[in-house]
Amino acid sequence: KSVLTSKWAGQELFCFDTIDSTNTKAKQLAEEGANHGALVVSDNQSGGKGRRGRSWESPVSTGIFMTLILKPSLNPSDASMLTLVMAIAVAKACNKLTKDSCFIKWPNDIVLNRKKICGILTEMSAEMDYINHIVIGIGINVNMDTFQNELKEKATSIKIENGYPVKRAELINQVMLCFEEEYEIFMMHHTLEAQKERYNNMLVSLDKEVVIMEPSKEFIGIARGINSKGELMVEKEDGQMMAIYAGEVSVRGI
Ligand code: ATP
Repeated sequence: KSVLTSKWAGQELFCFDTIDSTNTKAKQLAEEGANHGALVVSDNQSGGKGRRGRSWESPVSTGIFMTLILKPSLNPSDASMLTLVMAIAVAKACNKLTKDSCFIKWPNDIVLNRKKICGILTEMSAEMDYINHIVIGIGINVNMDTFQNELKEKATSIKIENGYPVKRAELINQVMLCFEEEYEIFMMHHTLEAQKERYNNMLVSLDKEVVIMEPSKEFIGIARGINSKGELMVEKEDGQMMAIYAGEVSVRGI
Protein backbone atom coordinates (compact mmCIF):
# COMPACT_ATOMS: atom_id res chain seq x y z
CA LYS A 1 0.00 0.00 0.00
CA SER A 2 1.27 3.42 -0.91
CA VAL A 3 2.17 5.84 1.86
CA LEU A 4 1.99 8.76 -0.54
CA THR A 5 -0.62 11.46 -0.01
CA SER A 6 -1.15 12.06 -3.73
CA LYS A 7 -4.47 11.31 -5.43
CA TRP A 8 -3.29 8.99 -8.20
CA ALA A 9 0.39 9.51 -9.01
CA GLY A 10 2.26 6.80 -7.12
CA GLN A 11 -0.79 5.22 -5.56
CA GLU A 12 0.11 1.98 -7.34
CA LEU A 13 3.65 1.52 -6.06
CA PHE A 14 6.39 -0.97 -7.00
CA CYS A 15 9.41 -0.87 -4.65
CA PHE A 16 12.78 -2.54 -5.15
CA ASP A 17 16.05 -2.68 -3.23
CA THR A 18 18.17 -2.75 -6.36
CA ILE A 19 17.28 -2.87 -10.03
CA ASP A 20 19.13 -2.25 -13.23
CA SER A 21 17.05 0.71 -14.34
CA THR A 22 13.69 1.95 -13.07
CA ASN A 23 12.74 2.97 -16.64
CA THR A 24 13.39 -0.55 -17.98
CA LYS A 25 11.34 -2.06 -15.14
CA ALA A 26 8.55 0.47 -15.64
CA LYS A 27 8.31 -0.30 -19.37
CA GLN A 28 8.00 -4.00 -18.55
CA LEU A 29 5.35 -3.37 -15.86
CA ALA A 30 3.43 -1.03 -18.17
CA GLU A 31 3.26 -3.77 -20.80
CA GLU A 32 2.13 -6.25 -18.16
CA GLY A 33 -0.80 -4.03 -17.20
CA ALA A 34 0.43 -1.52 -14.60
CA ASN A 35 -1.97 1.42 -14.59
CA HIS A 36 -1.68 5.10 -15.39
CA GLY A 37 0.03 6.68 -12.38
CA ALA A 38 1.92 3.58 -11.25
CA LEU A 39 5.33 4.38 -9.77
CA VAL A 40 8.49 2.28 -9.70
CA VAL A 41 10.94 3.22 -6.93
CA SER A 42 14.28 1.62 -6.20
CA ASP A 43 16.63 2.19 -3.31
CA ASN A 44 19.58 1.54 -5.62
CA GLN A 45 20.07 1.44 -9.34
CA SER A 46 22.86 -0.49 -11.03
CA GLY A 47 22.46 0.62 -14.66
CA GLY A 48 20.97 4.13 -14.65
CA LYS A 49 20.78 5.85 -18.02
CA GLY A 50 20.79 9.43 -19.28
CA ARG A 51 19.89 10.73 -22.70
CA ARG A 52 21.52 9.13 -25.74
CA GLY A 53 22.59 6.10 -23.75
CA ARG A 54 24.84 7.99 -21.34
CA SER A 55 25.09 6.71 -17.82
CA TRP A 56 23.52 8.10 -14.64
CA GLU A 57 25.70 7.64 -11.55
CA SER A 58 23.75 6.12 -8.67
CA PRO A 59 25.71 5.97 -5.38
CA VAL A 60 24.33 3.54 -2.76
CA SER A 61 21.04 4.31 -0.96
CA THR A 62 21.39 8.06 -1.11
CA GLY A 63 19.41 9.01 -4.20
CA ILE A 64 15.89 8.83 -5.54
CA PHE A 65 15.54 6.52 -8.52
CA MET A 66 11.98 6.35 -9.70
CA THR A 67 9.88 6.10 -12.83
CA LEU A 68 6.27 7.16 -13.27
CA ILE A 69 4.09 5.27 -15.76
CA LEU A 70 1.55 7.30 -17.71
CA LYS A 71 -1.08 6.18 -20.20
CA PRO A 72 -2.48 9.50 -21.37
CA SER A 73 -4.85 10.26 -24.25
CA LEU A 74 -2.36 12.45 -25.97
CA ASN A 75 -0.90 12.69 -29.43
CA PRO A 76 2.55 10.99 -29.43
CA SER A 77 4.06 14.15 -30.90
CA ASP A 78 3.02 16.08 -27.76
CA ALA A 79 4.58 13.62 -25.32
CA SER A 80 8.02 15.23 -25.13
CA MET A 81 6.42 18.19 -23.34
CA LEU A 82 5.75 15.90 -20.37
CA THR A 83 9.49 16.02 -19.59
CA LEU A 84 9.14 19.77 -19.08
CA VAL A 85 5.97 19.31 -17.04
CA MET A 86 7.90 16.93 -14.78
CA ALA A 87 10.82 19.38 -14.61
CA ILE A 88 8.49 22.06 -13.21
CA ALA A 89 7.14 19.55 -10.68
CA VAL A 90 10.58 18.35 -9.54
CA ALA A 91 11.94 21.89 -9.26
CA LYS A 92 8.92 22.98 -7.20
CA ALA A 93 9.17 19.88 -4.98
CA CYS A 94 12.93 20.26 -4.42
CA ASN A 95 12.44 23.94 -3.63
CA LYS A 96 10.31 22.96 -0.65
CA LEU A 97 13.32 21.13 0.85
CA THR A 98 16.41 23.04 -0.34
CA LYS A 99 17.85 26.12 1.33
CA ASP A 100 18.83 27.70 -1.98
CA SER A 101 16.59 27.88 -5.04
CA CYS A 102 16.54 25.13 -7.64
CA PHE A 103 16.48 25.98 -11.33
CA ILE A 104 15.70 24.12 -14.53
CA LYS A 105 18.34 23.49 -17.15
CA TRP A 106 16.35 23.10 -20.37
CA PRO A 107 14.93 20.67 -21.14
CA ASN A 108 15.37 17.96 -18.54
CA ASP A 109 17.73 18.74 -15.67
CA ILE A 110 17.37 20.44 -12.30
CA VAL A 111 20.32 22.39 -10.97
CA LEU A 112 21.13 23.74 -7.53
CA ASN A 113 23.90 26.31 -7.16
CA ARG A 114 24.75 25.73 -10.83
CA LYS A 115 25.31 21.98 -10.43
CA LYS A 116 23.05 19.13 -11.50
CA ILE A 117 20.89 17.50 -8.80
CA CYS A 118 18.37 15.77 -11.03
CA GLY A 119 17.97 14.30 -14.49
CA ILE A 120 14.68 13.33 -16.14
CA LEU A 121 14.46 10.76 -18.92
CA THR A 122 11.18 10.21 -20.77
CA GLU A 123 10.61 7.20 -23.00
CA MET A 124 7.50 6.32 -24.97
CA SER A 125 5.92 3.31 -26.58
CA ALA A 126 3.48 4.45 -29.27
CA GLU A 127 1.81 3.45 -32.50
CA MET A 128 0.93 5.92 -35.28
CA ASP A 129 -1.32 8.22 -33.28
CA TYR A 130 -1.76 6.23 -30.09
CA ILE A 131 0.40 6.14 -26.94
CA ASN A 132 0.68 2.72 -25.30
CA HIS A 133 2.60 4.15 -22.38
CA ILE A 134 5.07 6.80 -21.38
CA VAL A 135 7.64 6.31 -18.63
CA ILE A 136 9.23 9.31 -16.95
CA GLY A 137 12.40 8.42 -15.08
CA ILE A 138 13.67 10.74 -12.38
CA GLY A 139 17.05 10.52 -10.66
CA ILE A 140 17.56 12.96 -7.80
CA ASN A 141 20.81 13.37 -5.88
CA VAL A 142 19.45 13.62 -2.37
CA ASN A 143 21.90 12.58 0.34
CA MET A 144 25.24 11.88 -1.37
CA ASP A 145 28.26 13.27 0.47
CA THR A 146 30.57 13.48 -2.53
CA PHE A 147 30.87 12.75 -6.23
CA GLN A 148 33.83 11.16 -7.98
CA ASN A 149 35.96 12.30 -10.90
CA GLU A 150 34.40 14.56 -13.53
CA LEU A 151 31.04 14.60 -11.75
CA LYS A 152 32.69 16.57 -8.90
CA GLU A 153 32.56 19.63 -11.14
CA LYS A 154 29.01 19.29 -12.42
CA ALA A 155 26.96 17.30 -9.90
CA THR A 156 25.83 18.00 -6.36
CA SER A 157 23.26 16.70 -3.88
CA ILE A 158 20.68 18.37 -1.68
CA LYS A 159 22.67 17.25 1.39
CA ILE A 160 25.90 18.78 0.09
CA GLU A 161 24.19 22.12 -0.61
CA ASN A 162 21.95 22.19 2.49
CA GLY A 163 24.56 20.85 4.89
CA TYR A 164 22.01 18.36 6.25
CA PRO A 165 20.16 15.36 4.81
CA VAL A 166 16.49 15.31 3.79
CA LYS A 167 14.02 12.42 3.85
CA ARG A 168 13.79 10.73 0.44
CA ALA A 169 10.19 9.60 1.03
CA GLU A 170 9.12 13.16 1.74
CA LEU A 171 10.67 14.40 -1.49
CA ILE A 172 9.06 11.57 -3.51
CA ASN A 173 5.71 12.56 -2.03
CA GLN A 174 6.24 16.23 -2.93
CA VAL A 175 7.22 15.34 -6.51
CA MET A 176 4.03 13.28 -6.93
CA LEU A 177 1.84 16.06 -5.48
CA CYS A 178 3.44 18.76 -7.64
CA PHE A 179 3.30 16.55 -10.74
CA GLU A 180 -0.41 15.82 -10.32
CA GLU A 181 -1.11 19.52 -10.25
CA GLU A 182 1.05 20.35 -13.29
CA TYR A 183 -0.10 17.30 -15.27
CA GLU A 184 -3.76 18.23 -14.88
CA ILE A 185 -3.07 21.73 -16.20
CA PHE A 186 -1.06 20.36 -19.13
CA MET A 187 -3.78 17.88 -20.10
CA MET A 188 -6.32 20.70 -20.39
CA HIS A 189 -4.26 22.40 -23.10
CA HIS A 190 -1.92 19.78 -24.61
CA THR A 191 0.58 22.66 -24.78
CA LEU A 192 2.69 24.50 -22.22
CA GLU A 193 0.85 27.77 -22.81
CA ALA A 194 -0.39 28.03 -19.22
CA GLN A 195 2.88 26.75 -17.72
CA LYS A 196 5.67 28.28 -19.81
CA GLU A 197 5.92 31.35 -17.60
CA ARG A 198 6.36 29.18 -14.53
CA TYR A 199 8.99 27.13 -16.37
CA ASN A 200 10.81 30.22 -17.63
CA ASN A 201 10.87 31.77 -14.16
CA MET A 202 12.91 28.77 -13.03
CA LEU A 203 15.08 28.55 -16.16
CA VAL A 204 18.72 28.78 -15.10
CA SER A 205 19.87 30.30 -18.38
CA LEU A 206 17.04 32.81 -18.89
CA ASP A 207 18.46 35.91 -20.61
CA LYS A 208 21.95 34.44 -20.42
CA GLU A 209 24.35 33.28 -23.08
CA VAL A 210 24.09 29.62 -24.05
CA VAL A 211 25.97 27.46 -26.51
CA ILE A 212 23.68 25.24 -28.54
CA MET A 213 25.48 22.11 -29.63
CA GLU A 214 23.71 20.38 -32.48
CA PRO A 215 25.20 17.20 -33.92
CA SER A 216 26.67 19.06 -36.90
CA LYS A 217 27.32 22.60 -35.63
CA GLU A 218 27.24 24.81 -32.58
CA PHE A 219 26.14 28.39 -32.10
CA ILE A 220 25.92 30.99 -29.36
CA GLY A 221 22.84 32.97 -28.40
CA ILE A 222 20.80 34.35 -25.53
CA ALA A 223 18.15 32.01 -24.06
CA ARG A 224 14.79 33.79 -24.04
CA GLY A 225 12.69 31.00 -22.52
CA ILE A 226 10.52 28.22 -23.89
CA ASN A 227 7.52 28.64 -26.19
CA SER A 228 4.24 26.79 -25.69
CA LYS A 229 5.63 23.72 -27.52
CA GLY A 230 8.54 23.48 -25.08
CA GLU A 231 11.16 24.59 -27.60
CA LEU A 232 13.91 26.85 -26.31
CA MET A 233 13.84 30.27 -27.96
CA VAL A 234 17.39 31.45 -28.54
CA GLU A 235 18.24 34.91 -29.85
CA LYS A 236 21.24 34.81 -32.14
CA GLU A 237 23.81 37.62 -32.38
CA ASP A 238 22.12 38.98 -35.53
CA GLY A 239 18.82 39.27 -33.60
CA GLN A 240 17.23 36.28 -35.29
CA MET A 241 15.14 34.07 -32.98
CA MET A 242 15.67 30.32 -33.25
CA ALA A 243 13.35 27.68 -31.77
CA ILE A 244 15.47 24.78 -30.53
CA TYR A 245 13.90 21.34 -30.32
CA ALA A 246 15.17 19.19 -27.43
CA GLY A 247 15.75 16.00 -29.39
CA GLU A 248 19.32 16.32 -30.53
CA VAL A 249 20.93 19.26 -28.81
CA SER A 250 22.84 19.96 -25.62
CA VAL A 251 22.98 23.36 -23.99
CA ARG A 252 26.27 24.44 -22.49
CA GLY A 253 26.71 27.25 -20.03
CA ILE A 254 24.65 26.86 -16.87
P1 ATP B 1 24.14 17.53 -20.67
O1 ATP B 1 23.67 18.08 -21.96
O2 ATP B 1 24.53 18.55 -19.66
O3 ATP B 1 25.12 16.40 -20.79
P2 ATP B 1 21.83 15.87 -20.46
O4 ATP B 1 20.53 16.32 -19.95
O5 ATP B 1 21.92 15.56 -21.89
O6 ATP B 1 22.88 16.95 -19.99
P3 ATP B 1 21.69 13.24 -19.51
O7 ATP B 1 22.15 12.50 -20.72
O8 ATP B 1 20.24 13.33 -19.21
O9 ATP B 1 22.34 14.66 -19.58
O10 ATP B 1 22.40 12.64 -18.22
C1 ATP B 1 23.65 11.98 -18.31
C2 ATP B 1 24.77 12.91 -17.94
O11 ATP B 1 24.57 13.44 -16.64
C3 ATP B 1 26.09 12.17 -17.85
O12 ATP B 1 26.80 12.30 -19.05
C4 ATP B 1 26.84 12.83 -16.70
O13 ATP B 1 27.63 13.89 -17.17
C5 ATP B 1 25.76 13.42 -15.85
N1 ATP B 1 25.46 12.62 -14.66
C6 ATP B 1 25.51 11.28 -14.51
N2 ATP B 1 25.13 10.92 -13.29
C7 ATP B 1 24.84 12.04 -12.61
C8 ATP B 1 24.38 12.32 -11.29
N3 ATP B 1 24.15 11.37 -10.38
N4 ATP B 1 24.18 13.62 -10.97
C9 ATP B 1 24.41 14.61 -11.84
N5 ATP B 1 24.83 14.42 -13.10
C10 ATP B 1 25.04 13.14 -13.49
